[in-house]
Amino acid sequence: PTRPLLPVVGADLRAPLATGGDTRYVNLDYAASAPALLAVADHVAEILPTYASVHRGAGYASQLSTQRYEDARGTVARFVGARPDDVVVFTRNTTDALNLLAGCVPDGGEVVVLDIEHHANLLPWQRRAHRVVEAASTLAQTLSRLQVELARRPAALLAVTGASNVTGEQLPLGALAGLAHRHGARIVVDAAQLAPHRRIDVVAGEIDYVAFSGHKLYAPFGAGVLVGRRDWLDAAPPYLAGGGAVREVTLTATDWAPAPARHEGGSPNVIGAAALARACEAIAALPEGCAEVHESALRRRLLAGLDRIEGVRTLRLWPDSGSAIGVVAFTVDGYPARQVAEYLSAEHGIGVRDGRFCAHPLLSKLGADGAALRASFGLGSTADDVDRLLAAVEHLVTEGTTGTYATSAERPCD
Ligand code: PMP
Repeated sequence: PTRPLLPVVGADLRAPLATGGDTRYVNLDYAASAPALLAVADHVAEILPTYASVHRGAGYASQLSTQRYEDARGTVARFVGARPDDVVVFTRNTTDALNLLAGCVPDGGEVVVLDIEHHANLLPWQRRAHRVVEAASTLAQTLSRLQVELARRPAALLAVTGASNVTGEQLPLGALAGLAHRHGARIVVDAAQLAPHRRIDVVAGEIDYVAFSGHKLYAPFGAGVLVGRRDWLDAAPPYLAGGGAVREVTLTATDWAPAPARHEGGSPNVIGAAALARACEAIAALPEGCAEVHESALRRRLLAGLDRIEGVRTLRLWPDSGSAIGVVAFTVDGYPARQVAEYLSAEHGIGVRDGRFCAHPLLSKLGADGAALRASFGLGSTADDVDRLLAAVEHLVTEGTTGTYATSAERPCD
């Protein structure tokens, strides 16, 4: 393309080095948040001057904002191939969307979840009746464990991630949806990691609910979505009580609106929704499979390179998991993850994530109780980025470092 897909943010930053000088910053932390696409940045700049409160005013700006907000809903619905009667609820992010859904599971309904999930797809269910299934050492065995659990006692919902934010491994959503439905349960997919990397087709995959975040999909923070079946959403108490979520209010009783308004109390984030929708359009317009081919090549390059470095261990769950997104976690013998991450940033201008990735049970399961490092790619990543990381890790392992770096994580969500 004549115009780059990504804006200068992230891609063209210069990083100051502790060793002197600066260098092109290498962003290998797309899984945390992805820099805005040019199309998204342009769209936000275009609509920012004219935003107004949606659904409320009769003025032109208000009508325009309402139109943009509702159009965004339609775009998101098309992006995930939603059924005509599905509801698109705008939320703050994936965490918000899954908490919302947790409040919509019919009373008494149990939720089945694997032990490999991000906390966003674990803790909301811990507030409900739930059962945790331990993932086995192969994907096939993991599926049979889920099958046994769903057959043992009825469940209302199976909650699974589309792709792990630690290992990048994808789950076979079609098979899992079939499994859930055969046992009378619904399925929700935490697509925070999957949506930026792979096409989601709710109908073809028989997925009942899907949740993802704008900020991992090359759009700004503050907007996410929950898309899915209407009946639970209409029957549940409103997520937030307040303006916009109602049909009629008296001092003694409230007639709540149906979804999505029911769960969107308060003035909505029009810019966030429009930006997220613009990102959906831009990603959907990419040639089919191009992101997958691009990332798979980078993933293979990184895994092969890391495997060649003495004392580096990559974290993987299943030898039989076919597909994976561009997310690779690893440890370096003798070096706490925080120290490696700080070294990579200070001496090489490389940004990776370190910690336990808001998936403490999974990190323990993978034998990396302390913490690990995670490199993740996106549309702006290049083979040169991977080679820079490999060279830096190799340098650390062979030459060591004289730099003094923190050795333990102190971030709140590690
Ligand atoms: N699920 C997965 C798999 C994630 O990677 C993340 C973000 N790290 C979340 C859920 C939560 O997303 P957010 O912080 O945008 O709510």
